[in-house]
Amino acid sequence: MINSDKSVIIVGAGIGGLATAVRTALKGYRVSVYEKADSCGGKLTEFELGDYRFDFGPSLFTMPQYVLELFKEAGKDPKDYFTYKSLPEACRYFYRDGTRFTAPTSEEEFVKIASRTFDVSEKKLKAYMDENRKIFENAGEVFLTHSLQKVETWLQPKVVKSLFHSYVLNMLKSMHQVTSKRISDPRLVQLFDRYATYNGSSPYKASSILNSISSLEHEYGTYFPVGGMAHIAKSIENLAKELGVIFYYNKTVERIKYVGNTVQGIEVDGKAILADIVVSNMDVHFTYERLLQKSTARLEKREKSSSAVIFYWGIDRSFDELGLHNIMFSDNYEEEFAAIFEDKTLPADPTIYINISSKHSPSDAPANAENWFVMINVPADFGQNWDQEIVQLKQKVVSTVSEQLEVDISKHIAEEWIADPRTIAEKTVSHRGALYGTSSNHWLSAFLRHPNFSSEFKNLYFVGGTVHPGGGIPLCLLSAKIASDLMN
Ligand SMILES: Cc1cc2nc3c(=O)[nH]c(=O)nc-3n(C[C@H](O)[C@H](O)[C@H](O)COP(=O)(O)OP(=O)(O)OC[C@H]3O[C@@H](n4cnc5c(N)ncnc54)[C@H](O)[C@@H]3O)c2cc1C
Repeated sequence: MINSDKSVIIVGAGIGGLATAVRTALKGYRVSVYEKADSCGGKLTEFELGDYRFDFGPSLFTMPQYVLELFKEAGKDPKDYFTYKSLPEACRYFYRDGTRFTAPTSEEEFVKIASRTFDVSEKKLKAYMDENRKIFENAGEVFLTHSLQKVETWLQPKVVKSLFHSYVLNMLKSMHQVTSKRISDPRLVQLFDRYATYNGSSPYKASSILNSISSLEHEYGTYFPVGGMAHIAKSIENLAKELGVIFYYNKTVERIKYVGNTVQGIEVDGKAILADIVVSNMDVHFTYERLLQKSTARLEKREKSSSAVIFYWGIDRSFDELGLHNIMFSDNYEEEFAAIFEDKTLPADPTIYINISSKHSPSDAPANAENWFVMINVPADFGQNWDQEIVQLKQKVVSTVSEQLEVDISKHIAEEWIADPRTIAEKTVSHRGALYGTSSNHWLSAFLRHPNFSSEFKNLYFVGGTVHPGGGIPLCLLSAKIASDLMN
């Protein structure tokens, strides 16, 4: 332990804030976390509806190594805090033309079964997937684990090499452009295009460098955390507490205090609390607007990521055709993304994602019943008439799902709660309810995201899904690592 005389305050106990708490405690700092809600997790929380348990937000867990690393660096056995199952099946896909495809996690199996289902040879598909993996090997490590705004990053030869390869590998072309050139079957192109939604973007706009996301699932696998997704946050909170981190819940931070350009602490309940370092895990937009009372004009210019409407349905029967992750594709993906990002309206014919954690955790639903998390990608909140839109959306979702399963699903919804961009914005203090802060639709998005430090204020750092390297659990965990490494 070093630096034990230094204190750190973290604003927010989302996954990024929790990981930062562990990392700064391991640096020997005295760490306190102030959280507005009554428990940790932010978007990564859970709730009950009748006899059904639901995770509020994330449902897909990849790259567990970034969670495990926190426990290992603390000298603990991760298994004492956190366990998870490795999943042989990545996702079940349903197409309107009747095609069904269960995607295995193993790349070898995926190639074999996909080439039997779609119009693609094993050789062609393998070559395309190898290419995606190479993009990740070349660029992923640099973009995800370094601060892009520090000169030291660009002095490393591997960074220059990786950037060169990224450009060679069509950074200026969209994901869809590159995939549809390599693969001719539109159903398989749609499957790969879907990975743009992993950071709330459009495959028709996001750089083809993001095709590398698909390789992560096959390279690192997909997992199911025992106890549900929310358990990831709780286990990191437990570790942080053991390391001496103090958590203050139901405490809304009102200001970040600074004198000149040096941050000195925070204000809570009208009282100043001093610290050597402040880390904001709050949405970066609101950190500037509410805590620093600074202009957000530059942040406003960046396009927001997509948001979601989620139907949390307690279903009174089970469906063998469905697995943990299921996608029912729309017929016109391009129109769907144009609605979300150009028109900022709900897609008329949306792709439907259904997650059913009770498939792996039977206690999440009564016997022979299932907890369905039914998510539709929609635009961020720009004042749309959500109440009206959701009525129409529900009709469409019920009719598509009923058609695919050949059962009138409306008769089996025993419990229901609906979240929309307003709910997400309010519950998790997310600007316009965007799931991942800004979109990655611009080819320079990686460079345009807010860095993990402040160039204006000394001793101020930023972590979480709205800053570098981006949204999603693995990237939030990496933001904590980058920010903590920058502190001295
Ligand atoms: C519906 C949905 C589905 C998703 N699906 C996936 C998925 O499948 N896989 C995946 O990896 N990711 C997914 N994500 C994204 C993922 O949830 C986020 O990127 C990640 O959880 C964000 O973590 P964070 O560290 O930014 O903190 P957040 O979760 O945003 O938490 C921020 C915390 O700060 C607190 N706070 C805010 N203001 C203050 C204040 N003034 N004072 C004190 N506390 C404050 C909030 O209460 C909150 O607890 C999904 C998100 C949503 C909403």
